[in-house]
Amino acid sequence: MKVLVVEDEHKIANSIKKGLEQENYVVDAVYDGTSGYDMASGETYDVIILDLMLPDMDGIEVCKKLRENSIHTPILMLTARGQLEDRVEGLNSGADDYLVKPFAFTELLARLKALSRRPKDASGPVLSAGDLSLNTLTYEVKRGNKQIDLSRKEYTLLEYLLRHQNTILTKDQIINNIWDYDSNILPNTVEVYIGYLRNKIDKTFPEKRPMISTVRGFGYKIESEK
Ligand code: CA
Repeated sequence: MKVLVVEDEHKIANSIKKGLEQENYVVDAVYDGTSGYDMASGETYDVIILDLMLPDMDGIEVCKKLRENSIHTPILMLTARGQLEDRVEGLNSGADDYLVKPFAFTELLARLKALSRRPKDASGPVLSAGDLSLNTLTYEVKRGNKQIDLSRKEYTLLEYLLRHQNTILTKDQIINNIWDYDSNILPNTVEVYIGYLRNKIDKTFPEKRPMISTVRGFGYKIESEK
């Protein structure tokens, strides 16, 4: 899952980024409205966390502009305590939910999970293909009944492949969704991580069908049935 954080208070932005990375999210953080708008329209995110009070373009304006340009990424708006009009204005501008500052990180996480499950993804918290399953609430990954331990990156990669199962994903798509904007990733790195993942979910189970297939010259995919 990839999240954009737009918040001018660097401390808050960076603590959200750090916290979410611990929870296996991929996070880009920017600190003003214009950069927020540019990133949100140029990259693909599952959710945008957007502060209301921002220098240059404020959160309401960013939100309106994105919606006008048919970018429908769910937006969680952050606002200061007691600004009730903000809430109304925020929701009218096209935000999907809002959260009053200061907030508990667990609350932010709960809202984020609720938003990212809307409506394109009615599959609930467990993603699966064949006997491979990944629980997005507990981070548990299993093949049949056997639990598989993945590193954070491997988990994020597997979640991405499972959310887009039966679709060929190119290395570029994988890079853009699994690494944040600041990472310098070569296509070769994707191969390396696919290799790690294969070792854990396929090679450990030689009696089972391999889940990850390589589509030569195009990319990779996980098939739900075979
Ligand atoms: Ca602010």
